[in-house]
Amino acid sequence: MHRWQTIVEPFRIHSVEPAQFTTVEQRSAWLAEAGNNLFNLRAEHVLIDLLTDSGTGAMSRDQWAAIQHGDESYAGSPSWYRFLDAVQHLFPFTHVIPTHQGRAAEKILFSVIGGPGKVVPNNTHFDTTRANVEFTGAEAVDLVIPEGRQPDLVHPFKGNMDIAALEHCIQTRGVQNIPVVFVTITNNSGGGQPVSLANLREVRGVCDKYGLPLFLDGCRFAENAWFIHEREEGQGEREIVDIVRDIAALADGMTMSAKKDGMANIGGWLAMNDDDLALKCRNLLILTEGFPTYGGLAGRDLEAIAQGLTEVVDPSYLRYRIRSTAYLADALDAAGVPVVKPAGGHAVYLDARALLPHIAPLQYPGQALATALYREGGIRGCEIGTVMFGRRPDGSEVPAAMDLVRLAIPRRTYTQSHIDYVIEVVTWVAARAGELRGMRIVDEPPALRHFTARFAPL
Ligand SMILES: *Cc1c(COP(=O)(O)O)cnc(C)c1O
Repeated sequence: MHRWQTIVEPFRIHSVEPAQFTTVEQRSAWLAEAGNNLFNLRAEHVLIDLLTDSGTGAMSRDQWAAIQHGDESYAGSPSWYRFLDAVQHLFPFTHVIPTHQGRAAEKILFSVIGGPGKVVPNNTHFDTTRANVEFTGAEAVDLVIPEGRQPDLVHPFKGNMDIAALEHCIQTRGVQNIPVVFVTITNNSGGGQPVSLANLREVRGVCDKYGLPLFLDGCRFAENAWFIHEREEGQGEREIVDIVRDIAALADGMTMSAKKDGMANIGGWLAMNDDDLALKCRNLLILTEGFPTYGGLAGRDLEAIAQGLTEVVDPSYLRYRIRSTAYLADALDAAGVPVVKPAGGHAVYLDARALLPHIAPLQYPGQALATALYREGGIRGCEIGTVMFGRRPDGSEVPAAMDLVRLAIPRRTYTQSHIDYVIEVVTWVAARAGELRGMRIVDEPPALRHFTARFAPL
């Protein structure tokens, strides 16, 4: 059926933004000013911005049209009902609580169910999820399968939860201390790797056995559903929407960032079936986000998300999305650059620890590689490693499980020739990896240090 090899983007370009060309000398100066933290750069000094796929994608003609339908009534806006229908069409949870982005949903949920002595298991907590769990005094425990921690090992569902480890955690920590079991689809901090339906069913089984609720961190639910469609036995002929509904049916609730598979620039939600929990969450929502029919969002944002949710489950979009990410990973792999395999859904992860064995984890090989890609080629990626996860709540510092550099691909934004340029630059830097030096932190905040820490080369 798919006879042609070229990836044809399933869209034509309708409106363009200028890209900024700069020199190595300029970029070196800007890096120094930014304290070697790529979050501190001005975006117009970046040529190809792969810092994140969060809210950075291009919206469609129909999303921009939907924005014109935005109704800014304070309560009960038609835009709210369109959003609610679109969310419940995929995730038929009783209560849907809009928020300005994913972490606001996390903050509200964990404020209600977290607290000292509590333990939250997840395949891998995303950084904001971990921070919001820990902020309440609870503990965030990552229980991805062992294959998920080996960057070069190929496995179809490297995001799966380790079921035995989950049961062990529940038994040793005490079921009364576990307010919820979380599964992140896809597993962003573990390489954007998917979770199988079979594994979700097993997690559900464990939750039922102990009477625990199961929540999804559903940020990339559509990409995860596409992987299930492609890789899981008996799923290849099924509609993506049906796979998503199967996933939803296994859970009791979810947190969501609409900046990912909501295809929007802002937004999110918290959803659940439990009436009592929903009441408590809505009371907090009113305190921090707004009235329950808009959360922290404008009516126009609710419209853009509602439309985005119809586009993200389109198989021609998902085929392009997953194939174009794999195109980058496969080319780098063929060039001998160590990457997490197989490719994740939204990003390619360079294995900085493997590429830079001469830089110890506590000298941040990921940060060294990420800054080199910017200096040499104007490409901005993101360290996902010891900078992001190395500082423990007790103040000690330990190497993260992996030192990766994430090249996240904004949705529908860059063309294949942009990606060909990325392949050229990464390959060039990797060929000179021995020249890169480690870094030390000169200044860091108490939490989520990767956003604002300043670094100096060693
Ligand atoms: C982005 C993300 C979040 C947080 O969402 P924001 O909209 O950035 O606040 C939570 N979990 C995962 C897996 C994410 O990718």
